[in-house]
Amino acid sequence: MSRTKTIRKKTSKTAKMVVKKSIKKATKKTIRKNTRKKAPQQIKKEPFVLQPLRGMKDILPQEQPYWEQVRRVTEKLAREYGFSRIDIPIMEFSNLFVRNIGEGTDIVEKEMYAFTTKGKNKVALRPEFTAGICRSFIQNGMHILAKPVKLFSTGPVYRYDRPQKGRYREHHQVNYDVFGEQDPILDAQIIQIASRTVQDLGIKSIQIQVNSIGCPTCRKDYRELLINYLESKKSKLCQDCKRRLKTNPLRVLDCKEDKCAQVSASAPQSISHLCEDCHTHFKTLLEYLDELDLSYIINPQLVRGLDYYTKTVFEIWSGSEEGKKLSLGGGGRYDKLIESMGGHEMPAIGFAIGMERIVEEMKRVQAKSYSPPRPKVFLAQLGNLAKKKSLKLFAELGKNGILIAESFGRGSLKSQLKVANKLKVSFTLILGQKESLDETVIVKNMATGVQETVSMNKLVSIIKKKLKTDNVVVYHHNK
Ligand SMILES: [Zn+2]
Ligand SMILES: [Zn+2]
Repeated sequence: MSRTKTIRKKTSKTAKMVVKKSIKKATKKTIRKNTRKKAPQQIKKEPFVLQPLRGMKDILPQEQPYWEQVRRVTEKLAREYGFSRIDIPIMEFSNLFVRNIGEGTDIVEKEMYAFTTKGKNKVALRPEFTAGICRSFIQNGMHILAKPVKLFSTGPVYRYDRPQKGRYREHHQVNYDVFGEQDPILDAQIIQIASRTVQDLGIKSIQIQVNSIGCPTCRKDYRELLINYLESKKSKLCQDCKRRLKTNPLRVLDCKEDKCAQVSASAPQSISHLCEDCHTHFKTLLEYLDELDLSYIINPQLVRGLDYYTKTVFEIWSGSEEGKKLSLGGGGRYDKLIESMGGHEMPAIGFAIGMERIVEEMKRVQAKSYSPPRPKVFLAQLGNLAKKKSLKLFAELGKNGILIAESFGRGSLKSQLKVANKLKVSFTLILGQKESLDETVIVKNMATGVQETVSMNKLVSIIKKKLKTDNVVVYHHNK
């Protein structure tokens, strides 16, 4: 029955569309009828505001050198440590996140951009990478690949959180995940990559915080101990933590409220209640970190707000003396996640770095941003024929690896040379009416002012030679 209804509904909808489309052909009567019915909706246009959504922002061209630097450094490190890039959709079925990040977590409970599509699918914008990557890992049978399988990804993630400095609803992460190895040497290597990422970006003063939250075996007992303790201090906890006590007691430990922090300070610590396996794992990790000369502090309050973590968790903090310390990124081990999602037994560890936070910190410590290679040659043109020829000449030089600039829109030679001076190029090529007819170009040395006329078909080799003897590096793509 409902099916018939739907069909009828659809038909009438289509019919309306036809009316709308053939409105010109319709009789006056129809138009009048149509207008009367639809007029209020058609006239009342929703206003739009010239600004992005709250908690979202443009990354403008002047900001890009920092972002480019982050992209370059992180991609270089990924290659160096043997990671392959993977890109996964920004949107997934919301259950993927609800089940695997955990129902009691802030991310799922409060911060997820979840909605129902026209096709009645419950979907969500990814609040992090790992769940989606694991989905893809299982679906594509990556367990048969040589282990460890190392995957690198980067892109936006979404959290419907209260926007504040360094925290956006749309923000970007660089994400590294390693599958198939439970040896703590992988934990140490991941922490090494995380700290190198930050330090290679010029943020030298950092603090590594580590903790172990155990495995399902030892966490069960610990959880009970913790709940008992927290129950006894319940009246001193904030509203959120009173609720967390039931849903996700570990989360109480990293509540930022002062009164909760006081309670947490004397709470039982997970590292004192690890099973033998977890204890050895953590101890060995610390030995590796010592061997690497990575200084760290053990933060027993560090739990990370996601259900899937086991054993090692860590965070990298900016070590600014003045002002608030900023968490630049973090991660941990999730040995049971793939299995709990229906895959093969597959220990794993990963971490993510927040790009907005990193860029902010880079600016604060005045770290180097990326500066693209500058053009060494400028192409100036004068007259209609020269203008026509200049596009081709420009491309010809570019194809030969000569980074070149122009200002084609400007008519006078004087104003073009002004631009050339501003760009501090070594040579300006001048193409006028006479040169265009003769198939020649004037090459002007900007330092000496000396000009010479060269044949167009020898131009590329002459310029290359001049740039070389001038000790100027010729632009190499993507180096
Ligand atoms: Zn354990
Ligand atoms: Zn609290």
